[in-house]
Amino acid sequence: MKLPNKKGYFGQYGGKFVPETLMTALKELEEVYLDIKKDTVFQNKINYYFKNYAGRPTPLYFAEKLTDVLGGPKIYLKREDLLHTGAHKINNTIGQVLLAKRIGKKRIICETGAGQHGVATATAASVMGLECIVYMGEEDIKRQSLNVFKIELLGAKVIGVYSGTKTLKDAINEAIRDWTANVRNTFYVLGSVVGPHPYPMMTRDFQSVIGKEARKQIIKLEGRLPDYLVACVGGGSNSIGLFYPFYRDKVTFIGVEAGGVGTEHSATLCYGSPGVLHGAFSYVLQTSDGQIKGTHSVAPGLDYPGVGPEHSYYKDAKRAKYVSVTDKEAVDAFHLLSEIEGIIPALEPAHAIAYVKKIAKEIGKQKIVIINLSGRGDKDIDIVRK
Ligand SMILES: *Cc1c(COP(=O)(O)O)cnc(C)c1O
Repeated sequence: MKLPNKKGYFGQYGGKFVPETLMTALKELEEVYLDIKKDTVFQNKINYYFKNYAGRPTPLYFAEKLTDVLGGPKIYLKREDLLHTGAHKINNTIGQVLLAKRIGKKRIICETGAGQHGVATATAASVMGLECIVYMGEEDIKRQSLNVFKIELLGAKVIGVYSGTKTLKDAINEAIRDWTANVRNTFYVLGSVVGPHPYPMMTRDFQSVIGKEARKQIIKLEGRLPDYLVACVGGGSNSIGLFYPFYRDKVTFIGVEAGGVGTEHSATLCYGSPGVLHGAFSYVLQTSDGQIKGTHSVAPGLDYPGVGPEHSYYKDAKRAKYVSVTDKEAVDAFHLLSEIEGIIPALEPAHAIAYVKKIAKEIGKQKIVIINLSGRGDKDIDIVRK
Protein backbone atom coordinates (compact mmCIF):
# COMPACT_ATOMS: atom_id res chain seq x y z
CA MET A 1 0.00 0.00 0.00
CA LYS A 2 1.24 3.45 -0.90
CA LEU A 3 0.70 6.26 1.57
CA PRO A 4 -0.90 8.71 1.52
CA ASN A 5 -3.80 7.57 -0.66
CA LYS A 6 -5.11 9.72 -3.54
CA LYS A 7 -7.14 11.89 -1.17
CA GLY A 8 -4.14 12.54 1.01
CA TYR A 9 -4.95 10.19 3.87
CA PHE A 10 -2.65 8.00 5.93
CA GLY A 11 -5.27 5.61 7.29
CA GLN A 12 -7.82 7.98 8.78
CA TYR A 13 -5.31 10.85 9.21
CA GLY A 14 -4.38 13.74 6.96
CA GLY A 15 -6.69 15.23 4.35
CA LYS A 16 -7.33 18.85 3.45
CA PHE A 17 -9.26 20.92 5.96
CA VAL A 18 -8.91 24.34 4.36
CA PRO A 19 -11.08 27.17 2.99
CA GLU A 20 -12.55 26.66 -0.50
CA THR A 21 -10.14 29.18 -2.11
CA LEU A 22 -7.17 27.02 -1.18
CA MET A 23 -8.63 23.74 -2.44
CA THR A 24 -7.78 24.52 -6.06
CA ALA A 25 -4.29 25.64 -5.13
CA LEU A 26 -3.64 22.43 -3.21
CA LYS A 27 -4.98 20.31 -6.04
CA GLU A 28 -2.74 22.13 -8.51
CA LEU A 29 0.25 21.80 -6.21
CA GLU A 30 -0.35 18.08 -5.85
CA GLU A 31 -0.53 17.59 -9.62
CA VAL A 32 2.68 19.48 -10.39
CA TYR A 33 4.45 17.85 -7.50
CA LEU A 34 3.61 14.34 -8.66
CA ASP A 35 4.81 15.29 -12.16
CA ILE A 36 8.02 16.83 -10.95
CA LYS A 37 8.74 13.90 -8.68
CA LYS A 38 9.34 11.82 -11.82
CA ASP A 39 11.26 14.57 -13.60
CA THR A 40 14.97 13.76 -13.56
CA VAL A 41 16.03 17.30 -14.46
CA PHE A 42 14.26 18.61 -11.37
CA GLN A 43 15.56 15.80 -9.16
CA ASN A 44 19.10 16.46 -10.38
CA LYS A 45 18.69 20.10 -9.48
CA ILE A 46 17.60 19.21 -5.93
CA ASN A 47 20.52 16.83 -5.62
CA TYR A 48 22.87 19.50 -6.89
CA TYR A 49 21.85 21.89 -4.11
CA PHE A 50 21.81 19.12 -1.51
CA LYS A 51 25.37 18.25 -2.35
CA ASN A 52 27.04 21.52 -3.24
CA TYR A 53 25.06 23.99 -1.16
CA ALA A 54 23.72 22.16 1.90
CA GLY A 55 26.62 19.71 2.30
CA ARG A 56 25.08 16.30 1.67
CA PRO A 57 25.59 13.44 2.16
CA THR A 58 25.97 13.91 5.91
CA PRO A 59 28.19 11.36 7.70
CA LEU A 60 26.87 8.41 9.65
CA TYR A 61 29.20 8.58 12.61
CA PHE A 62 29.93 5.68 14.96
CA ALA A 63 29.76 7.26 18.44
CA GLU A 64 32.21 4.94 20.09
CA LYS A 65 32.48 6.77 23.39
CA LEU A 66 28.72 7.20 23.74
CA THR A 67 28.38 3.50 22.98
CA ASP A 68 30.91 2.63 25.71
CA VAL A 69 29.44 4.96 28.31
CA LEU A 70 25.86 3.79 27.79
CA GLY A 71 26.94 0.15 27.84
CA GLY A 72 24.42 -1.09 25.32
CA PRO A 73 23.99 -1.19 21.52
CA LYS A 74 26.36 0.25 18.93
CA ILE A 75 25.22 3.82 18.45
CA TYR A 76 25.50 5.69 15.16
CA LEU A 77 24.65 9.36 14.75
CA LYS A 78 23.26 10.68 11.47
CA ARG A 79 24.96 14.04 11.32
CA GLU A 80 22.27 16.43 10.05
CA ASP A 81 23.83 18.94 12.45
CA LEU A 82 26.64 19.41 9.93
CA LEU A 83 24.35 20.80 7.23
CA HIS A 84 24.34 24.43 6.11
CA THR A 85 22.24 26.45 8.62
CA GLY A 86 22.75 23.73 11.21
CA ALA A 87 19.80 21.37 10.89
CA HIS A 88 17.74 19.12 8.65
CA LYS A 89 15.20 21.86 7.87
CA ILE A 90 17.25 23.02 4.87
CA ASN A 91 16.49 19.71 3.04
CA ASN A 92 12.83 20.63 2.94
CA THR A 93 13.17 24.33 2.19
CA ILE A 94 15.53 23.68 -0.74
CA GLY A 95 12.96 21.22 -2.12
CA GLN A 96 9.93 23.45 -1.65
CA VAL A 97 11.57 26.67 -2.87
CA LEU A 98 12.88 24.92 -6.00
CA LEU A 99 9.36 23.63 -6.56
CA ALA A 100 7.95 27.15 -6.13
CA LYS A 101 10.42 28.49 -8.66
CA ARG A 102 9.67 25.72 -11.11
CA ILE A 103 5.93 26.47 -11.04
CA GLY A 104 6.55 30.17 -11.51
CA LYS A 105 5.68 31.58 -8.08
CA LYS A 106 7.50 34.82 -7.35
CA ARG A 107 6.81 35.18 -3.66
CA ILE A 108 7.64 32.82 -0.79
CA ILE A 109 5.89 33.01 2.57
CA CYS A 110 6.38 30.96 5.68
CA GLU A 111 5.84 31.13 9.40
CA THR A 112 8.26 30.37 12.17
CA GLY A 113 8.17 29.88 15.93
CA ALA A 114 11.71 29.55 17.18
CA GLY A 115 12.99 31.03 13.93
CA GLN A 116 14.80 27.95 12.58
CA HIS A 117 12.33 27.35 9.76
CA GLY A 118 12.36 31.08 9.01
CA VAL A 119 16.13 31.01 8.64
CA ALA A 120 16.06 27.85 6.49
CA THR A 121 13.35 29.29 4.21
CA ALA A 122 15.03 32.70 3.91
CA THR A 123 18.28 30.90 3.04
CA ALA A 124 16.70 28.87 0.24
CA ALA A 125 14.75 31.88 -1.06
CA SER A 126 17.95 33.92 -1.10
CA VAL A 127 19.94 31.44 -3.16
CA MET A 128 17.02 30.80 -5.54
CA GLY A 129 16.40 34.55 -5.91
CA LEU A 130 12.81 34.75 -4.68
CA GLU A 131 11.13 37.30 -2.42
CA CYS A 132 10.53 35.92 1.08
CA ILE A 133 8.20 36.95 3.89
CA VAL A 134 8.36 35.33 7.32
CA TYR A 135 5.44 35.57 9.76
CA MET A 136 6.43 35.42 13.38
CA GLY A 137 4.55 35.99 16.64
CA GLU A 138 5.59 39.13 18.51
CA GLU A 139 6.53 37.04 21.59
CA ASP A 140 8.79 34.85 19.49
CA ILE A 141 10.35 37.91 17.84
CA LYS A 142 11.40 39.08 21.30
CA ARG A 143 12.67 35.67 22.40
CA GLN A 144 14.49 34.88 19.16
CA SER A 145 16.06 38.19 18.20
CA LEU A 146 19.18 36.55 16.77
CA ASN A 147 17.15 34.51 14.28
CA VAL A 148 15.10 37.59 13.36
CA PHE A 149 18.35 39.39 12.59
CA LYS A 150 19.63 36.43 10.56
CA ILE A 151 16.43 36.30 8.51
CA GLU A 152 16.81 39.99 7.73
CA LEU A 153 20.48 39.58 6.83
CA LEU A 154 19.36 36.92 4.36
CA GLY A 155 17.21 39.51 2.63
CA ALA A 156 13.82 38.34 3.84
CA LYS A 157 11.18 40.38 5.65
CA VAL A 158 9.82 39.48 9.09
CA ILE A 159 6.21 40.43 9.79
CA GLY A 160 5.21 40.47 13.47
CA VAL A 161 1.90 38.88 14.47
CA TYR A 162 0.06 40.49 17.39
CA SER A 163 -3.04 38.29 17.65
CA GLY A 164 -3.78 35.51 20.17
CA THR A 165 -0.80 34.36 22.20
CA LYS A 166 1.54 36.07 19.68
CA THR A 167 3.35 32.78 19.04
CA LEU A 168 3.66 30.09 16.36
CA LYS A 169 0.01 29.11 16.00
CA ASP A 170 -1.01 32.75 15.45
CA ALA A 171 1.79 33.18 12.92
CA ILE A 172 0.46 30.10 11.08
CA ASN A 173 -3.04 31.58 10.95
CA GLU A 174 -1.61 34.82 9.54
CA ALA A 175 0.44 32.97 6.91
CA ILE A 176 -2.64 31.02 5.84
CA ARG A 177 -4.55 34.32 5.54
CA ASP A 178 -1.80 35.77 3.32
CA TRP A 179 -1.72 32.63 1.20
CA THR A 180 -5.50 32.66 0.73
CA ALA A 181 -5.35 36.28 -0.47
CA ASN A 182 -2.27 35.90 -2.71
CA VAL A 183 -2.42 32.30 -3.84
CA ARG A 184 -1.83 33.12 -7.51
CA ASN A 185 1.74 34.38 -7.10
CA THR A 186 2.63 33.01 -3.67
CA PHE A 187 4.06 29.71 -2.44
CA TYR A 188 3.63 28.75 1.21
CA VAL A 189 6.66 26.82 2.48
CA LEU A 190 5.61 24.61 5.40
CA GLY A 191 8.31 23.57 7.84
CA SER A 192 7.35 20.05 8.82
CA VAL A 193 5.28 17.06 7.74
CA VAL A 194 2.12 18.88 8.81
CA GLY A 195 -0.63 20.90 7.11
CA PRO A 196 -3.05 19.87 4.37
CA HIS A 197 -2.23 17.31 1.66
CA PRO A 198 0.13 17.35 -0.26
CA TYR A 199 2.45 19.03 2.29
CA PRO A 200 3.01 16.05 4.63
CA MET A 201 3.88 13.90 1.60
CA MET A 202 6.14 16.49 -0.06
CA THR A 203 8.05 17.31 3.10
CA ARG A 204 8.48 13.61 3.85
CA ASP A 205 9.85 13.01 0.37
CA PHE A 206 12.35 15.87 0.65
CA GLN A 207 13.47 14.74 4.11
CA SER A 208 13.69 11.08 3.09
CA VAL A 209 17.18 11.78 1.81
CA ILE A 210 18.21 11.32 5.47
CA GLY A 211 16.98 7.72 5.67
CA LYS A 212 18.09 6.83 2.13
CA GLU A 213 21.64 7.87 2.91
CA ALA A 214 21.62 6.24 6.36
CA ARG A 215 20.41 2.96 4.86
CA LYS A 216 23.28 2.82 2.36
CA GLN A 217 25.80 3.97 4.93
CA ILE A 218 24.91 1.42 7.60
CA ILE A 219 24.92 -1.43 5.10
CA LYS A 220 28.37 -0.36 4.00
CA LEU A 221 29.64 -0.01 7.57
CA GLU A 222 27.96 -2.97 9.25
CA GLY A 223 26.83 -5.18 6.40
CA ARG A 224 23.29 -5.15 7.72
CA LEU A 225 20.32 -2.97 8.64
CA PRO A 226 20.05 -1.35 12.08
CA ASP A 227 17.71 -2.69 14.77
CA TYR A 228 16.45 0.69 15.94
CA LEU A 229 15.98 4.15 14.48
CA VAL A 230 15.47 6.87 17.06
CA ALA A 231 14.57 10.51 16.36
CA CYS A 232 12.88 13.41 18.12
CA VAL A 233 9.37 14.38 17.05
CA GLY A 234 8.11 17.96 16.93
CA GLY A 235 6.02 18.22 13.77
CA GLY A 236 7.71 15.00 12.73
CA SER A 237 9.86 15.77 9.68
CA ASN A 238 13.35 14.67 10.72
CA SER A 239 11.96 11.44 12.17
CA ILE A 240 9.83 10.57 9.13
CA GLY A 241 12.78 11.47 6.93
CA LEU A 242 14.87 8.87 8.72
CA PHE A 243 12.12 6.25 9.17
CA TYR A 244 10.35 6.23 5.82
CA PRO A 245 13.05 4.56 3.67
CA PHE A 246 13.07 1.70 6.21
CA TYR A 247 9.27 1.36 6.26
CA ARG A 248 9.26 -2.17 4.86
CA ASP A 249 12.24 -3.39 6.85
CA LYS A 250 12.33 -5.20 10.15
CA VAL A 251 13.56 -2.13 11.99
CA THR A 252 11.99 -0.64 15.13
CA PHE A 253 11.09 3.06 14.90
CA ILE A 254 11.08 5.16 18.07
CA GLY A 255 9.87 8.76 18.06
CA VAL A 256 10.80 10.81 21.11
CA GLU A 257 8.53 13.68 22.11
CA ALA A 258 9.06 16.54 24.53
CA GLY A 259 7.89 15.53 28.00
CA GLY A 260 8.66 19.02 29.34
CA VAL A 261 8.35 19.53 33.06
CA GLY A 262 5.50 18.47 35.36
CA THR A 263 2.22 18.61 33.45
CA GLU A 264 3.63 21.07 30.88
CA HIS A 265 4.77 19.32 27.71
CA SER A 266 4.31 19.05 23.96
CA ALA A 267 4.07 15.27 23.65
CA THR A 268 1.22 15.16 21.15
CA LEU A 269 1.30 11.45 20.27
CA CYS A 270 1.80 10.35 23.89
CA TYR A 271 -0.97 12.46 25.43
CA GLY A 272 -3.07 13.97 22.61
CA SER A 273 -6.21 12.85 20.79
CA PRO A 274 -7.34 13.03 17.15
CA GLY A 275 -8.59 16.40 15.92
CA VAL A 276 -8.13 19.00 13.18
CA LEU A 277 -5.28 21.49 13.34
CA HIS A 278 -3.75 23.60 10.58
CA GLY A 279 -5.49 21.86 7.74
CA ALA A 280 -5.17 18.18 8.65
CA PHE A 281 -6.73 15.53 10.86
CA SER A 282 -4.13 14.15 13.24
CA TYR A 283 -3.25 13.82 16.91
CA VAL A 284 -3.55 17.19 18.64
CA LEU A 285 -3.09 18.47 22.18
CA GLN A 286 -6.57 19.74 22.97
CA THR A 287 -8.96 20.24 25.85
CA SER A 288 -12.12 18.11 26.11
CA ASP A 289 -14.07 20.84 24.24
CA GLY A 290 -11.53 20.99 21.39
CA GLN A 291 -9.48 24.07 22.33
CA ILE A 292 -5.79 23.79 21.45
CA LYS A 293 -3.72 23.46 24.61
CA GLY A 294 -0.67 25.55 25.48
CA THR A 295 2.57 23.60 25.10
CA HIS A 296 6.00 23.66 26.62
CA SER A 297 9.42 22.27 25.82
CA VAL A 298 12.96 23.37 26.59
CA ALA A 299 13.60 22.60 22.90
CA PRO A 300 12.07 25.39 20.80
CA GLY A 301 11.58 23.13 17.77
CA LEU A 302 9.48 20.60 19.68
CA ASP A 303 7.08 23.14 21.14
CA TYR A 304 4.06 22.52 18.89
CA PRO A 305 0.57 21.16 19.77
CA GLY A 306 0.20 19.05 16.61
CA VAL A 307 2.07 16.35 14.72
CA GLY A 308 2.18 15.03 11.17
CA PRO A 309 -0.64 12.69 10.11
CA GLU A 310 1.75 9.96 8.98
CA HIS A 311 2.99 9.64 12.56
CA SER A 312 -0.59 9.36 13.82
CA TYR A 313 -1.03 6.50 11.39
CA TYR A 314 2.25 4.83 12.44
CA LYS A 315 1.14 5.11 16.06
CA ASP A 316 -2.27 3.52 15.57
CA ALA A 317 -0.84 0.85 13.25
CA LYS A 318 1.93 0.23 15.81
CA ARG A 319 4.57 0.72 13.11
CA ALA A 320 6.38 3.13 15.43
CA LYS A 321 6.57 3.59 19.15
CA TYR A 322 6.25 7.07 20.65
CA VAL A 323 7.72 8.00 24.00
CA SER A 324 8.72 11.17 25.81
CA VAL A 325 11.60 12.39 27.92
CA THR A 326 11.65 15.41 30.23
CA ASP A 327 13.41 18.75 29.77
CA LYS A 328 15.91 17.72 32.41
CA GLU A 329 16.72 14.39 30.78
CA ALA A 330 17.24 16.17 27.45
CA VAL A 331 19.53 18.80 28.98
CA ASP A 332 21.56 16.05 30.68
CA ALA A 333 21.96 14.29 27.34
CA PHE A 334 22.97 17.62 25.75
CA HIS A 335 25.83 17.86 28.27
CA LEU A 336 26.77 14.20 27.92
CA LEU A 337 27.17 14.31 24.14
CA SER A 338 29.06 17.62 24.31
CA GLU A 339 31.49 16.28 26.91
CA ILE A 340 32.22 12.82 25.57
CA GLU A 341 31.84 13.15 21.81
CA GLY A 342 32.74 16.81 21.28
CA ILE A 343 29.41 17.36 19.57
CA ILE A 344 27.05 19.99 20.99
CA PRO A 345 23.62 18.80 19.86
CA ALA A 346 20.48 20.89 19.48
CA LEU A 347 18.08 20.37 22.40
CA GLU A 348 15.61 18.64 20.08
CA PRO A 349 17.78 15.62 19.19
CA ALA A 350 19.11 15.65 22.77
CA HIS A 351 15.68 14.15 23.53
CA ALA A 352 16.45 11.19 21.27
CA ILE A 353 19.85 10.71 22.89
CA ALA A 354 18.25 10.87 26.34
CA TYR A 355 15.83 8.11 25.46
CA VAL A 356 18.56 5.83 24.09
CA LYS A 357 20.50 6.47 27.29
CA LYS A 358 17.50 5.18 29.27
CA ILE A 359 17.01 1.97 27.30
CA ALA A 360 20.60 1.17 26.23
CA LYS A 361 21.24 -1.56 28.78
CA GLU A 362 17.96 -3.27 28.11
CA ILE A 363 18.56 -3.28 24.32
CA GLY A 364 21.88 -5.08 24.75
CA LYS A 365 25.24 -5.01 23.00
CA GLN A 366 24.39 -7.05 19.90
CA LYS A 367 22.09 -4.40 18.51
CA ILE A 368 22.64 -1.36 16.28
CA VAL A 369 20.90 1.97 16.84
CA ILE A 370 20.86 5.00 14.55
CA ILE A 371 19.97 8.30 16.21
CA ASN A 372 19.11 11.23 14.00
CA LEU A 373 21.17 14.18 15.16
CA SER A 374 18.74 16.64 13.56
CA GLY A 375 20.65 19.82 14.41
CA ARG A 376 23.53 21.47 16.20
CA GLY A 377 23.31 23.17 19.57
CA ASP A 378 24.71 26.63 18.87
CA LYS A 379 21.19 28.05 18.83
CA ASP A 380 20.46 26.61 22.29
CA ILE A 381 23.56 27.66 24.19
CA ASP A 382 21.77 30.53 25.94
CA ILE A 383 18.86 28.33 27.03
CA VAL A 384 21.24 25.80 28.55
CA ARG A 385 23.36 28.49 30.20
CA LYS A 386 20.25 29.73 32.00
C1 LIG B 1 12.61 22.12 13.98
C2 LIG B 1 13.51 21.12 14.54
C3 LIG B 1 13.04 19.86 14.99
C4 LIG B 1 11.59 19.49 15.03
O1 LIG B 1 10.94 19.41 13.82
P1 LIG B 1 10.56 18.02 13.12
O2 LIG B 1 9.66 18.43 12.03
O3 LIG B 1 9.87 17.16 14.15
O4 LIG B 1 11.81 17.41 12.66
C5 LIG B 1 13.97 18.93 15.42
N1 LIG B 1 15.29 19.21 15.47
C6 LIG B 1 15.78 20.40 15.07
C7 LIG B 1 17.25 20.63 15.15
C8 LIG B 1 14.91 21.39 14.59
O5 LIG B 1 15.41 22.58 14.21
